[in-house]
Amino acid sequence: MSELYPTTASQRDRWILQRRGPKASLDAFRPYAFLWEEEPGSAIETLALPTATIFLTNRECPFRCLMCDLWQNTLDHRVPSGAIAAQIRYALERLPAARCIKLYNAGSFFDPQAIPPEDLPEIAALVRGFDRVIVECHPAFLRGEYGGRALRFQAGLRGQLEIAIGLETVHPPTLEKLNKRITVEEFRQAAAFLKRHNIDLRVFILLRPPFQSESEGVEWACRSLDVAAECGARVCSIIPTRGGNGALEALGKVFQPPGLRSLEAAMEYGLSLRQCLVFADLWDLEKFYDCDCSPERAARLSEMNRKQVVVGQASACLHCGQAEACPTL
Ligand code: SF4
Ligand SMILES: [Zn+2]
Repeated sequence: MSELYPTTASQRDRWILQRRGPKASLDAFRPYAFLWEEEPGSAIETLALPTATIFLTNRECPFRCLMCDLWQNTLDHRVPSGAIAAQIRYALERLPAARCIKLYNAGSFFDPQAIPPEDLPEIAALVRGFDRVIVECHPAFLRGEYGGRALRFQAGLRGQLEIAIGLETVHPPTLEKLNKRITVEEFRQAAAFLKRHNIDLRVFILLRPPFQSESEGVEWACRSLDVAAECGARVCSIIPTRGGNGALEALGKVFQPPGLRSLEAAMEYGLSLRQCLVFADLWDLEKFYDCDCSPERAARLSEMNRKQVVVGQASACLHCGQAEACPTL
């Protein structure tokens, strides 16, 4: 049964919070997950870059985005000084060697309530050996004094700093309802700030967020890829919108997860731009399986992620082969 979704941001904050389940119980001195992966290093060479990804335990992000489930692995309080560095050390001692490191904190790396600012020099020293350091940040934490903090962190690194921003969608009415508290213009300003200071940009784009039909989902993912590419993104990651956070389910029919054919279509379009690396987020992809052809589609997506070119053709499955293709392809 769908519920009425509020129209003002403060009411939406409350509505979203009320529909949450419990959080995980976490230790402030341990990352909540870490893994080693390979990511193509450039669209031209597609040389795999060994990458250590650490999911840092820290205080919950102050925003209340409708689609967010990252709060499930966060704390209600700020971590003590030194805890984040201890988490990074813990993960690095257990992961194979890597050239690139992602420090993902389920929020904004330059939010002082998330990562204590006094710890940033020690964190920079810990990751100095990496060629590339990737963190995530909401545009609100890249302005003014927060932006200065990002630049000081950058100065402490030897490798290239890259900041990931969740643009989500450039469809203004949907972006507003996602409760992200950003506009496309603010995203552009944040991207321009990064460009001015030689910081690479990674962009997260949602495929079929709530309030969009399947075809609108593909269309707006493609338009979002256009904006990200225009803003100089080095990487775009297309994330099929996943349920499971309580709030999305409460929306009823206005939230339907996208089909894999749509993910293929958005991926094909992104790769056709030839302007940045494009990845389909394949985490837990089985959740989107809805047809016998789904494993074949997942394998194709994985191959496109690896090779950074459009591979073969989408399955002509009789049940779902007629589904979406990006309208501008
Ligand atoms: S800004 Fe990011 S981490 Fe924070 S609530 Fe929104 S999606 Fe979640
Ligand atoms: Zn099918």
